[in-house]
Amino acid sequence: MSNTSSFKLVLLGESAVGKSSLVLQFVKQQFDEYRESTIGAAFLTQTVKVEDGSNVKFEIWDTAGQERYKSLAPMYYRGAQCAVVVYDITNYGSLEKAKSWITELQRQADPDIIIAVCGNKSDLAERRAVTSDQVQKMFEGEEGLLFVETSAKSGDGVQALFTVLAEKLHNSP
Ligand code: GDP
Repeated sequence: MSNTSSFKLVLLGESAVGKSSLVLQFVKQQFDEYRESTIGAAFLTQTVKVEDGSNVKFEIWDTAGQERYKSLAPMYYRGAQCAVVVYDITNYGSLEKAKSWITELQRQADPDIIIAVCGNKSDLAERRAVTSDQVQKMFEGEEGLLFVETSAKSGDGVQALFTVLAEKLHNSP
């Protein structure tokens, strides 16, 4: 019998960077260009098997809309063991916004929170406005952040993101 541990994960980032689409791709392997954006938080769970055969269950709080209700954000990330801060690789401003979310998490969230910085929309490479050098520079001197690029549209990197997080959560003390 395999054991399962549950972890609360929150998604943060500027509106329209693809937070809800990432969750939809991860949980249902779907992409819907015309899906209406979420108001408030949606809640979904998904389980990932890690290397030693254990299960890691993500309890995902999609905080879509929190950028409009910023004062609600602490309610979402309170008690979260894991955060995915998303920017859009075609929108430099969304990287700056990601940086400010990370600063807020470092000040206010659980000090052991595991944070991934996720550059989404990697399928739009021809419209890229954020290079890996710029990302490195933006987060210079920060320790413990995971960096990934994903496409919620094609699915590229999405399972990998959550698998890396699952391994890290499973192996953290
Ligand atoms: P949210 O507000 O951050 O939750 O963003 P949504 O998930 O609602 O996505 C915003 C828009 O970007 C929608 O039109 C999505 O179809 C589109 N989108 C999301 N992820 C991707 C992606 O990886 N590639 C492309 N090309 N479009 C995406």
